[in-house]
Parts: sequence; structure tokens; C-alpha cells
Amino acid sequence: MLTTEVENYPGFPEGIMGPDLMMHFRSQAERFGARIENVDVTSVDFRKAPFVVRTADDEYHAKTVIVATGASARWLEIPGEERLRGRGVSTCATCDGAFFRDKQIVVVGGGDSAMEEALFLTRFGRKVTVIHRRDSLRASKIMVERAQAHAKIDFIWNTVVDEVYGDAHMTGLKLRNLQTGAVHDFDADALFIAIGHTPNTAVFEGQLDLDDAGYIDSSDGTATNIEGVFVAGDVNDIRYKQAITAAGAGCRAAMDAEKYLEALEFAVAAS
Ligand code: NAP
Repeated sequence: MLTTEVENYPGFPEGIMGPDLMMHFRSQAERFGARIENVDVTSVDFRKAPFVVRTADDEYHAKTVIVATGASARWLEIPGEERLRGRGVSTCATCDGAFFRDKQIVVVGGGDSAMEEALFLTRFGRKVTVIHRRDSLRASKIMVERAQAHAKIDFIWNTVVDEVYGDAHMTGLKLRNLQTGAVHDFDADALFIAIGHTPNTAVFEGQLDLDDAGYIDSSDGTATNIEGVFVAGDVNDIRYKQAITAAGAGCRAAMDAEKYLEALEFAVAAS
């Protein structure tokens, strides 16, 4: 939903914007009768079938459930960050990048997301500075090469952001070099945070088995500890986190859920 250009999803040789890809997924599912409701799930009860999924106003009962709640962007949790969200501080370049034409933009992180955000933001910013806590990037080689070759992008290494400041809008950052301990101010109009994600599993705690990082455990990639509840996508994937791997996982979970339903019907018919 929040990514910019997706260049590694099959079938789109010229690439496609993340939100456009999502709309294609949605209308394809609707063509086959999927009913889509945009509501937050507040709690679940998977202790016995039919499984219960609750929202603020409703309760859904299901013979089978596929959990595909994904993962949310992480924040730095530093002073000023929350107050200046939407006033310079963001985790989504697609959503907010265009507000910073000709501005000094900072991106924090050293992974593919940070490189992707930095490259996208060069369309708008006067300059894009990537601040990373180490002296090497974990992003893929091609993304690193693209970012390092870009005239508008520069890097500050071994450095963390300790504070974001500004009144109505952010105006600068307090930076700290982790090797020397030196602290200095850095003028900037925008801070894009791209430091990874946290799986959206709070609502399943105590019902589905989670690993140490909070991702849903699955022995075979679709089954959970509850028979009839399946999992797909980033909520179970600490490693790949690609649209194509999530789509593949969704297909596997759907096929396993279908097989589970067939077995249920067979059992009912036989009894
Ligand atoms: P990531 O690979 O986990 O990278 C997170 C980066 O943020 C790391 O460089 C990490 O530093 C840094 N970081 C984490 N916590 C921090 C903190 N509190 N303060 C400062 N820096 C912090 O996450 P990602 O970039 O979101 O990528 C996740 C997965 O999605 C990866 O598998 C990636 O390949 C994939 N992805 C692919 C594409 C694409 O193919 N187009 C695009 C985006 C993401 P350290 O390096 O020091 O740990």
C-alpha cells in the first residue's frame, strides 16, 4: 500500500506503483465474489470453531481464517518525532514526498526501504541525505549502487538521530556520531524513517503462537497452531517481505484453507 514503484512483481515489465497494484488485486478478487470490508479487527477468538473475528461494531464467524495482517513501519521513538509527524516527519515517501519540493530531506536507515525512499525523494528534494547507524548498508547491491551514484543523495555514516525539532514544522535534527560521540545540529525540512517493520500481531497474542520477534509461527508456511487458521504474507515473513512472496504465500494459504473446508464438508457428509 505504501511502497512507490514496484519493479520486481511479475507481469509488469515497466513496473507499477504499489497502490495501483493493490487496486488491481482488489478488483480481481471482487470479480470472483470476494466481499471486502475496510474495518479494524479489535479481537479474535480462535479457541473453537466457528472462529470469531470482532470489530468495534460487528462480529464475524468463520469456518476458516487466513491471517494476512502484514507488518507496520517502525519509528525511532525519539523526542519530537510524534509531535512533528505530518509536519516533516513521515514513514511514507509516496504519501508525503511531494510536500518537500526543493527542500533538504533526510532518510534514516540502511536497508532496501531506505534506498528506495531516498531514490524516490530525489524527484522532489533539493538534496537527500541518508543517515545510517553503521558504515555499511544492508540494502541489495543494485539499490546501493543506484543510491550512491545519484548526484542528489549523500550519506552520513555511524550516526543516529537523537531528536527532531521545529515549531509548526520540523526545521532540524540533533545528530550523534556513534564512534566519536560528537553531537551536532543538522538543518532539514523532512525526516523519512525507513528502519524496518513490526508484525501486526497484537490482536492474536495468546491465541496464535508467535516467534521472539512477534511474527506468527508456522511450521509449513501456512498452518498456525490452530487447525483451520492459516497465515500468509509479511506477518509470517521476517526474511523476504516482497509483494511477490506475499502473493505466493496468499495463494498457498488460500489453497490450504480450501482443502480444509472440503475436508470439513466431507466429514459432515460422512457423519
Ligand atoms: P531492513 O532490511 O530491516 O533494514 C532496516 C534498516 O534500518 C537497517 O539498515 C537497520 O540498521 C536500520 N535500523 C533499524 N532500527 C534502527 C534504529 N532504531 N535506528 C537507526 N537505524 C535503524 O528493513 P527494510 O529496508 O524495510 O527492508 C525489509 C525487507 O524488505 C528486506 O528484505 C528488503 O530487501 C525488502 N525490501 C525490498 C524492496 C525492493 O525489492 N524493492 C524494497 C523495500 C524493502 P542496521 O543495518 O545497522 O541493522
